[in-house]
Amino acid sequence: MNYRHAYHAGNFADCMKHALLVSLIGSFLRKPTPFMVLDTHAGIGRYDLRCEEAEKTQEWRTGIGLLTEEGPDSPLAPWLDLVRKAGGPEIYPGSPLLVSMMLREQDHLLCCEKHPEDKRRLYGIFTRTPNVTVHERDGYEALRALLPPQTAKRGLVLIDPPFEEPNEFARLENAVQTIQARFSNGMIAIWYPIKHRTPVRAFHMALQDAGVRDILAAELLMRPPVDPDRLNGSRLLVIKPPFGFAEQAKAQLERLKTRLNAHEWSVTQIVPE
Ligand code: SAM
Repeated sequence: MNYRHAYHAGNFADCMKHALLVSLIGSFLRKPTPFMVLDTHAGIGRYDLRCEEAEKTQEWRTGIGLLTEEGPDSPLAPWLDLVRKAGGPEIYPGSPLLVSMMLREQDHLLCCEKHPEDKRRLYGIFTRTPNVTVHERDGYEALRALLPPQTAKRGLVLIDPPFEEPNEFARLENAVQTIQARFSNGMIAIWYPIKHRTPVRAFHMALQDAGVRDILAAELLMRPPVDPDRLNGSRLLVIKPPFGFAEQAKAQLERLKTRLNAHEWSVTQIVPE
């Protein structure tokens, strides 16, 4: 539990993940029926980019720091509007805060954060938000306790682990199977780093072998993924993506590539429906 997201908030990987997350949540807003979001690794929710940790790495400068001029016609606008509303770019909203800003009265957000201090800070943001619940617990273990959702028949499970453990991909594979067994029509979004291709390919094969279908991968590479010790790119794997998401993701990634001087992007269907 050494990972602190405050060092990385607003970097290129956050920008990619959060822009796409806002599109996924947006798809639920097309219908009035309630939805639920479970954020298994929630972080502290709100990041002051003037803090010591962010100052130390300056990662946000090559992420959200390059996007302040984006206008209302940008494919990134729905997400950047929320960033501005939250106090951005100095105050950068993490996944639970972004999701909470999109909830309607009938929708619900469940957050898990294992680090006690981070949980305390996250909890502090939502003391007056009745449809957000914050748990201090292991996000993987929570899947069995919190699924199927009690408040809605549709929803998203977002899994965004810190990748501190050597077996993170195996845990993700188990998590997907648990979610599908308990919440079969739920959408799943999993973030992971692209350091080297080999473990990523093995993860995709494992999902395919387990019979998981309808998988889309959106990727943004900052450089060719040849150095396994560097964060060369980032990926969001979406299981059961909503209608129109692939096209939205392509437009957002193309814009991010241009503005962040990235190497390349792709949106690939890994397994069809
Ligand atoms: N999803 C957040 C966002 O986009 O703003 C960022 C999350 S950060 C990458 C990962 C978080 O997971 C950290 O805050 C860390 O303390 C927490 N964490 C690590 N292991 C965990 C576990 N097993 N269960 C729940 N939280 C965990």
